[in-house]
Amino acid sequence: MSTPDTVLENIGREPGRITADEAACLLGADDAGFMERLREAAYRVKERHVGRTVYLRGLIEVSNACRCDCHYCGLRRGNRKLTRYCMTAEEIVAAAEWAWRAGYGSVVLQAGERRDEIFTAFIERTVGQIKAVSGGALGVTLSLGEQDRATYARWFRAGAHRYLLRIETTNEKLFRAIHPDDVDFRERRRCLGVLREAGYQVGTGVMVGLPGQTVEDLANDVCFFREADVDMLGLGPYIPYGGTPLADKAGDYTAGQRLRLALRMIAVCRLLMPDINMASTTALDALDPHGRELGLLAGANILMPNVTPERYRRDYQLYPGKPGIFAGPEAVRDQLVSRIEAIGETVGFDRWGDSPHAAARKERAVGYG
Ligand code: SAH
Ligand code: SF4
Repeated sequence: MSTPDTVLENIGREPGRITADEAACLLGADDAGFMERLREAAYRVKERHVGRTVYLRGLIEVSNACRCDCHYCGLRRGNRKLTRYCMTAEEIVAAAEWAWRAGYGSVVLQAGERRDEIFTAFIERTVGQIKAVSGGALGVTLSLGEQDRATYARWFRAGAHRYLLRIETTNEKLFRAIHPDDVDFRERRRCLGVLREAGYQVGTGVMVGLPGQTVEDLANDVCFFREADVDMLGLGPYIPYGGTPLADKAGDYTAGQRLRLALRMIAVCRLLMPDINMASTTALDALDPHGRELGLLAGANILMPNVTPERYRRDYQLYPGKPGIFAGPEAVRDQLVSRIEAIGETVGFDRWGDSPHAAARKERAVGYG
């Protein structure tokens, strides 16, 4: 019978080799002493493969309009309490330029999902303008949901080179339970493949601690990330948003359990995928004032400081308690840099900070090409 410590020892001997059962064993061990041993092991792997440099992506919350009605999200179409907005191209480019001058190296354009031509063309133009204004220096990541092949290709040609689309959970039954009928698991998975074919570095991820989600589900998620050969991961605790259908369901985990489970998930993913980029998400900060440092110490290496103009922030709440809602970009940057330095890490200013995993794939492609 494996114990969490024997599993951890085995990974030390044969890095990267683990079964779903063993991953579940690590994820289920909510004991402070073991968690520290797991964290230390993951941090050693992180130091060796991606180093102690944190890369920053300025997050621009372009629009909160959304065609979807995901049961967990504050931006869901059914939330009538929000004032819906869409930033202008000038505002987006100005925020991107600010991030560039602040040394962030890249930006993420994120929004609720829209598939109309007006929006598609708007993003295409705006990405082009961001690339132009920075002389091509600023990296652009998109997080704009499920789109068709042609749209992904247009945005890639405009200059975006990374895309984040979370699978949310790989348990199809749970996926169905947290989404309306028109959000389909297979379609989500297909989109991840299409993104790769379009040339993007692909990021995915899950919410951790959903009602009905087991550690076995999370272990299967980890196996999925490896099979999908992802370049980036964004893992955060699920945060119930009052008034959404999922928040009304009894949860299986307390806030503390969700935080610790998310940290173990980050650590396990780092152990198994040593050279990918992994974000320490803002949702960690919603559960602990030092949540994002804890994420970095568990194996994450990316932070996404918010550079959205202040007046839009309150209307872009995917979940409650999103930190920094009233802080301006300068304050957010200064706070973040001192938080990073306080844990003995440094900021990789002015660099795209692509994952070594993506770089290795590119080399392989050239080698065989
Ligand atoms: N509309 C795009 C991007 C915005 S949503 C998309 O869905 O991909 C970005 C992420 O926010 C989602 O993938 C989801 O994992 C996360 N999110 C939404 N509601 C959340 C909640 N209540 N708790 C934690 N994360 C949440
Ligand atoms: Fe829209 Fe994304 Fe929220 Fe779903 S998770 S409701 S697609 S913003």
